[in-house]
Amino acid sequence: DALGPTITIGEILVEIMATDRGTGFLEPITLIGPYPSGAPAIFIDQCARLGGSAGIIACVGEDDFGRVNVARLRADGADVSAISTSPEFPTGSAFVRYRKDGSRDFVFNIARSAAAQIDLTAAARALIARSGHLHVMGTAFAIPGAIEIIEHAIAAIKARGGSISFDPNVRKELLGQSETRARFARLVDIADLILPSGEELFVAAGVEGEREAVHALFARNASEVALKRGANGSTVFTREGRRIDCPAFAVEEIDPTGAGDCFGGAYVACRRLGMPIEQALTYANAAGARNVTAKGPMEGAGTRAELDAFIAMTPGRST
Ligand code: ATP
Ligand code: MG
Repeated sequence: DALGPTITIGEILVEIMATDRGTGFLEPITLIGPYPSGAPAIFIDQCARLGGSAGIIACVGEDDFGRVNVARLRADGADVSAISTSPEFPTGSAFVRYRKDGSRDFVFNIARSAAAQIDLTAAARALIARSGHLHVMGTAFAIPGAIEIIEHAIAAIKARGGSISFDPNVRKELLGQSETRARFARLVDIADLILPSGEELFVAAGVEGEREAVHALFARNASEVALKRGANGSTVFTREGRRIDCPAFAVEEIDPTGAGDCFGGAYVACRRLGMPIEQALTYANAAGARNVTAKGPMEGAGTRAELDAFIAMTPGRST
């Protein structure tokens, strides 16, 4: 990471999950948590665990939910200097319960939590000024203050010759707003690497059909597209016309939350550490697969040694 750390911007949350499957929270049920969470936090934690230099701009409350997150990120090697503490708002949270069919019910406290209080603080400016890569998460578009910071970071990092990646995981309802759609389109226009999951590819490209959509993205600015296919693995397409498919690692899925964020954190970290696409993609698939084997959104994020051991368990697979 010669140019400086990979950074991201957005929500830090705790997740508290129902231990049993079922519908909603309308009677007393057994819950387990708090688990550190928030898509940008999961991404940056996996990035740091793999040995990539990594930092996050975020805000937590002056409470244990904030402490548990900051302690985890710090322990895993992330730069936490630009995580501010709100004296007024509690740390963001998400209560989640899985239904029998795999869909989820949520109770969120994000918009009126510390997570929505992120600001372009002196510490945030300092982190941006020495960073070499910005990873933008679509989820951050839900936080009004994130936009200004993202714009500042894009300008600063581009001026330094750094690069930008974009995970277009924007909630569909948000894309109904013309302002959000414009911001989304702008990110697609400037990102060097785009990491869509399933349908997000077509939303980002504005075109149906996998080949057509990938070509439409290369006609803009992207030089790499990493397409996530859940339990079917993933594919990287390059502007030069290469296609690298990577089968998934077979695992028992305990908790699917965070797979895409771990995939992205691992892929960006490995590419920035200088690995070729094939090797980075193997680590990314391993990171996503390993994460779904653990309860809790970032509990299965792996170090390089842990991912090497995980990969070696599958006959015929190695890095
Ligand atoms: P999320 O579901 O967390 O929003 P996403 O939809 O962005 O994530 P996925 O495609 O679900 O991304 O997962 C990212 C990667 O993680 C996949 O490409 C795959 O390599 C791995 N992965 C996810 N789920 C599984 C699974 N059940 N078995 C094996 N690997 C998986
Ligand atoms: Mg998924």
